[in-house]
Amino acid sequence: MRVATLAGLAARDVAIEIVAETGSTNADLLARATTLAQPTVRWALQQTAGKGRAGRAWLAPENGALTFSLAWKLALPLQALSGLSLAIGCVVSQQLNTFGLDTRLKWPNDVLRHGAKLGGVLIETAVDRNDRNAVWVVIGVGINLARSGELSQTLSRAVADASDVDYDREEWMGALLGGLSAMLQQFERDGFAAFVARWNALDAYAGQDVKIVDQGRVLYQGQAAGVDAEGRLLLDTPEGQVAVIAGDVSLRMAED
Ligand code: ATP
Repeated sequence: MRVATLAGLAARDVAIEIVAETGSTNADLLARATTLAQPTVRWALQQTAGKGRAGRAWLAPENGALTFSLAWKLALPLQALSGLSLAIGCVVSQQLNTFGLDTRLKWPNDVLRHGAKLGGVLIETAVDRNDRNAVWVVIGVGINLARSGELSQTLSRAVADASDVDYDREEWMGALLGGLSAMLQQFERDGFAAFVARWNALDAYAGQDVKIVDQGRVLYQGQAAGVDAEGRLLLDTPEGQVAVIAGDVSLRMAED
């Protein structure tokens, strides 16, 4: 394993763990987050029980995914984290685009390529009982690299990958982790407000007719108008503008 590209991070006191296989890197780090002495990255070459939002599964094509988690202590109360998962999606998309990928974002935090899902982000949190003003965030990222025909067969929607790109896993990890650590330091200072313009510039659905669904039930329908400083999706509806909180709702095209 060539780790030279990760050396800059190690120099910034980020512990790096690389494992051949695990169930979920998020679960691994969450279990010991409040006991960690420093920010820690756990990179699994193969992840067998990846998690999505609300208990959904994140599948990793065998030998063909970047799956890692980053545990980081933020000196912020839990309620100040709104928008963090969008900021993460934004950085992941921006960093991948530096390698020529042309990814976009789907609210709240899917990374799309050619309109299909290339990557996902999950945040989980752990609060240290002895330090109520800080919170450990465990950021899980999964990106499809190799051809994922098996995934397309398993999932009902189209899936994207990076198999047509000459990728270098270590280089991509270095860029993603460098971007995430810089973002976390800025988020701690300025919150999501500092990322709104960047997120909106990558919005795959800007100006499109979309609906917000919760377990198949349509909650809102309107024209997507970007996100606000709390990471809420703005929708222009016939009744005026509404701001939708991520919670567990999903965004769909209006005609789907
Ligand atoms: P949706 O994608 O339906 O809007 P979501 O954004 O909340 O939902 P997550 O919970 O972040 O999705 O991710 C889990 C979902 O992503 C799964 O339910 C599955 O549909 C899809 N999925 C799982 N693994 C992959 C993968 N490797 N590539 C693309 N999509 C995947």
